[in-house]
Amino acid sequence: MALPCLCCSERVRRYQVLLSLMLSSQTKDQVTAGAMQRLRARGLTVDTILQTDDSTLGELIYPVGFWRNKVKYIKQTSAILQQRYGGDIPASVAELVALPGVGPKMAHLAMAVGWGIVSGIAVDTHVHRIANRLRWTKKATKSPEETRRGLEEWLPRELWSEINGLLVGFGQQTCLPLHPRCQACLNHALCPAAQGL
Ligand code: SF4
Repeated sequence: MALPCLCCSERVRRYQVLLSLMLSSQTKDQVTAGAMQRLRARGLTVDTILQTDDSTLGELIYPVGFWRNKVKYIKQTSAILQQRYGGDIPASVAELVALPGVGPKMAHLAMAVGWGIVSGIAVDTHVHRIANRLRWTKKATKSPEETRRGLEEWLPRELWSEINGLLVGFGQQTCLPLHPRCQACLNHALCPAAQGL
């Protein structure tokens, strides 16, 4: 996720956090950062996004993953934020996941980065995969939401905010989806999955 601009107001900063999270799904960090930079160059607020036509917005965010859908979701979400939240983002997971294109992982990260509130563990594909390989849930889980609930059952709350950042980097560099680098992994001796991979 690209970091929001520090000189913007808190409300705008939170909006930029949410937008950055929406852009980042299924997208490499550098691509998200590039899209955020192009958007910020035009002044990235709810109003400027709503004033930008869809094809221009598409050109600005391309090539983020599913950019056509994201144009639609960003427009719909921005309109809701303007109408119901005065241009800010809501301060609850329930309201965040009700926004078009915003899932539970984004909602928990938006709560943490936008509001400074740890509402739950942000589980993406990396956290989901690694937690299962290390058997960190009582039983194998089939979805990130199931993994989130399984992890929150036992992981101390003070660690909830850092596990996403730790495991995403680990999942990108070592515990890769297809060919994990088990021989170079410090968990090798205690990882149940390493024996079967
Ligand atoms: S040993 Fe292999 S499967 Fe286990 S955590 Fe390390 S990289 Fe992942």
